[in-house]
Amino acid sequence: MTTDNSKHQQRQQKLKEKVDSRIAAATDDKGLLLVITGNGKGKSTAGFGVVTRAVGHGMTAAVVQFIKGQWECGERNLLKQHGVDFHVMASGFTWETQNRDEDIKHAESAWQAAKQWLADPSIEVVLLDELTYMLTYKYLDLNQVIAALEQRPEHQHVVITGRACHRRIIEMADTVSEVQSIKHAFDAGIRVQRGVDW
Ligand code: ATP
Ligand code: MG
Repeated sequence: MTTDNSKHQQRQQKLKEKVDSRIAAATDDKGLLLVITGNGKGKSTAGFGVVTRAVGHGMTAAVVQFIKGQWECGERNLLKQHGVDFHVMASGFTWETQNRDEDIKHAESAWQAAKQWLADPSIEVVLLDELTYMLTYKYLDLNQVIAALEQRPEHQHVVITGRACHRRIIEMADTVSEVQSIKHAFDAGIRVQRGVDW
């Protein structure tokens, strides 16, 4: 037992030294570009989690929701009460989408809001929820989106969520997480649940 304990202590000490030295070496501050992509559940939840975290520190934030405009959204109800600005795409783009020209019009008007916030140094965190689909469907111009991200204020953090994020956005991002689906209640015939799914 004692040998186990002293081995454990040695291992922990080594680990602590490693982690401490990495923490000491990471001294830079900058506005981060975060991407949360993949097929699993939790991308938008995580994006709103970042916004909530920032707001909890008294920071300013703005959110553009590129789909599901007509849906209620618990985070939106809450965060609006805490001064977070929202732009919700007029006709929620979904798999039901039929009219491409209409969708493009709405995507572009949502993008105008995004562009304005990406140029505003008083906004510290911008969440672009479900932006990836606008690029997959070519509703927005990739180069324009990249340019706006590159030119944003130096200390502004941006979170992009959505499945199948474009490779060029992944390349320019600082932190990229892929949420993998292991199982989902929907596959067992359970419909979306208030407070968990929206
Ligand atoms: P959430 O908003 O819950 O964080 P998400 O942003 O990761 O989910 P989306 O692709 O935006 O996922 O899908 C939104 C809706 O679809 C949510 O109601 C979510 O529960 C559901 N969903 C997410 N992943 C899956 C999946 N793998 N299978 C079925 N439904 C899913
Ligand atoms: Mg989502």
